Amino acid sequence: MPGYQHPCRYCGELAPGDAAACPACGKVNPCGDLRCPKCRAPVKETWKACAGCGLKLETVCPKCGKTVFFGDHCGCGARLTVICGCGEEQPPVAANCRKCGKKLGGK
Ligand SMILES: [Zn+2]
Ligand SMILES: [Zn+2]
Ligand SMILES: [Zn+2]
Ligand SMILES: [Zn+2]
Repeated sequence: MPGYQHPCRYCGELAPGDAAACPACGKVNPCGDLRCPKCRAPVKETWKACAGCGLKLETVCPKCGKTVFFGDHCGCGARLTVICGCGEEQPPVAANCRKCGKKLGGK
């Protein structure tokens, strides 16, 4: 079944409504509601933590130092995702890679 698809909010390509990342442009949360990267519960940009699992939804922008929501980009334009050694790009909120489980951010 082809499930329902939504246009990516960044590049406009269609992606599954529950996609964690856009297959076309690789940005996280391409469509639909923002979701917790850990438990996938819907979250809002104004939240400081996930209501479902308590995961902190804020991160510090490496460029401007502001505390911002975990989305792809800071208002200053810096990219906020981290790329694991395995190549998986993800929001910088989890301690371990969501794909291979390795610790992120070096040892
Ligand atoms: Zn896209
Ligand atoms: Zn959660
Ligand atoms: Zn910034
Ligand atoms: Zn990985």
